[in-house]
Amino acid sequence: MEWARQARLIDGREARALERNARRRPWQATAALRRVRALREAIYDVFTSRAGRRRPDAAAVDLLQREFRRALRHLGLAVRARGFALTWVTSTDPLTRLLGLLARAAVDSLISDDLTRLKVCRSPRCGWVFLDTTRSATRRWCDMKVCGNRAKAQRYYIRRSSRTAG
Ligand SMILES: [Zn+2]
Repeated sequence: MEWARQARLIDGREARALERNARRRPWQATAALRRVRALREAIYDVFTSRAGRRRPDAAAVDLLQREFRRALRHLGLAVRARGFALTWVTSTDPLTRLLGLLARAAVDSLISDDLTRLKVCRSPRCGWVFLDTTRSATRRWCDMKVCGNRAKAQRYYIRRSSRTAG
């Protein structure tokens, strides 16, 4: 839930509702957690493969496909004042909805984003995948404030210690 909240798939209110639901149904929550983790790993595999210009693992694509199809079964069309929107069928279980949100966000990104700009953070301690939206497409780190600064500090430390040793 915390990861989904940080990834902005759900907000704080939805996270609390999900938590209450999970406490009432621990067995289903454990099963859902297993599915979310497997889906997250499959998505990571698909995106890092694309970033590395490799063909993604067939099993990872299949898993994403299965969860996406399941999610579609729970989506409906709602009439709004100024148009239409996709909504979840009200009976959709919140744990299933989280899986659906995750699968749908991944598929949306795969079909609409410019995947030539997909990159894996250069920091050996990170591994995050990001879309490089800079004009020059030269971004190396997921976040300059985190991994970029860490890399700069490390280069500085290495330069300084080699100078001291020399
Ligand atoms: Zn990073």
